[in-house]
Amino acid sequence: MKFHIALIPGDGIGPEIVEEAKKVLDRVAEKYHHEFTYEKLLMGGCSIDAYGTSLTDETLNRAKAADSVLLGAVGGDVGNSRWYDIDPKDRPEAGLLKIRKGLELFANIRPAYLYKELKDACPLRESIAEAGFDMVIMRELTGGLYFGERKTEEINGVRKATDTLVYDENEIRRIAVKGFEIARKRKKHLISVDKANVLDSSRLWRTVVDEVAKEYPDVTVSHMLVDNCAMQLVKDPAQFDVVLTENMFGDILSDEASMITGSIGMLSSASLGATKLGLYEPSHGSAPDIAGQNIANPIATILSAAMMLRYSFDLDEEARAVEDAVQKVLTEGYRTVDIMAEGCTRVGTKEMGDLITERI
Ligand code: NAD
Repeated sequence: MKFHIALIPGDGIGPEIVEEAKKVLDRVAEKYHHEFTYEKLLMGGCSIDAYGTSLTDETLNRAKAADSVLLGAVGGDVGNSRWYDIDPKDRPEAGLLKIRKGLELFANIRPAYLYKELKDACPLRESIAEAGFDMVIMRELTGGLYFGERKTEEINGVRKATDTLVYDENEIRRIAVKGFEIARKRKKHLISVDKANVLDSSRLWRTVVDEVAKEYPDVTVSHMLVDNCAMQLVKDPAQFDVVLTENMFGDILSDEASMITGSIGMLSSASLGATKLGLYEPSHGSAPDIAGQNIANPIATILSAAMMLRYSFDLDEEARAVEDAVQKVLTEGYRTVDIMAEGCTRVGTKEMGDLITERI
C-alpha cells in the first residue's frame, strides 16, 4: 500500500527522534512491500526562525493533504529562548494548538503500558508492577469545560468566575465510536469514565455510550466514576483496557496513567478525527537540555509511528512487528540513558533506532 506521511521534526530532540522513527517506517515498508513517501514540514521554533510564526497556513495545508502526520516535539528552553519573546499567537506551542484544531482532531489516545523490563521505574507497589498493565486512555479533545463559555465578573464587590461544561450527543457519539473501534483492536473491554452521580453532561455521556455500545456487542462496556477511576489506576491498573472519557477528566487521568509507567521517553500518543488522518507524537517535549547529544530515547516516537500504522493505515501486523521489536531490544538489555539500569547496555539515540530496525 502507498501512504504519504508528513514529518514534523520540530525542535530540540525532535529531529533526532523523528529520524529514528523514519528509519523504522522504511524498514516496515521494505519488509511488508509498502511505499511510504515523506514530506518534511517546519513547525515550532524552527518555523519561527524561517517564517516568524510557529505554523504557517501553507504548512497546515500540506499536513492536511498528507495521509498522516508524525510529529517530534516543539519548543525551546522557555525561560531562555528568543522564541518566547514574540506575540503568544506565534510562539512554538501555538503551532500545536493550531495543527490539532486545523486537522479537526477530537480524540486523543495515550497508551500506558508497563514493560516488565522497566517495572522498577513504576512507582507502585511491587506486586502491582509485577502484574503489569496495558491500557489506553482515550480523551475527548475539543469539547467540555476547556471550550465552554467562561467569564470572570465582579458582582457587588465579589469576584466571580464561571466555566461551563457542555457536550452535545454528537460530540459524545463520535468519540464513543472511536473508543469502541479501538477496543475492537485490543482486548475488547471499554470502561467509560464520568461523574454521572452529579453532572448532567456525564449522564448524557453515559446514555450515549450505552447507545453506541449496542452497535458493538463484541465489546464489553462498563461505567466508572472519575474519582473511583483515579483510585483504581493506582490500586489495580491491570483491570483497564480502553478508558473513554471527556476532556478534563482525560487530561488528569492520562497524566496519572503515564506516571505509573515511570518512563517519559517511552510514551506514545495519537490524536484522531473523523477521517483516517491522525497526528502521532511522543508524549514528552523537545527536551532542549539533551538536544544534539545522541542520548534522547526515540522509543516513544517509534511507538507513535506504530500507532500510525495501526490507526491511520490499518496495518495491524506491521504495528505489532514494531512493538515486538521494541520489546525484543528491551529484553536483550539495551537502554538509552533515561531508562538505564544495572547490568544493561547503554546505547544512544541512533543505536537504539538501529537495534529496533534490525529486529523488524
Ligand atoms: P520535556 O518532556 O521536554 O522534558 C522533561 C525532562 O524529560 C527533561 O529532563 C528531558 O531531558 C527528559 N526527556 C524528555 N523526553 C526525553 C526522551 N525522549 N529521552 C530522554 N529524556 C527525555 O519537558 P519540558 O522540559 O517541560 O519542556 C521542554 C520544551 O518542550 C518546552 O519548550 C515545552 O514547551 C515543550 N513541550 C512540547 C511538547 C510537544 O511538542 N508536544 C510537549 C511538552 C513540552
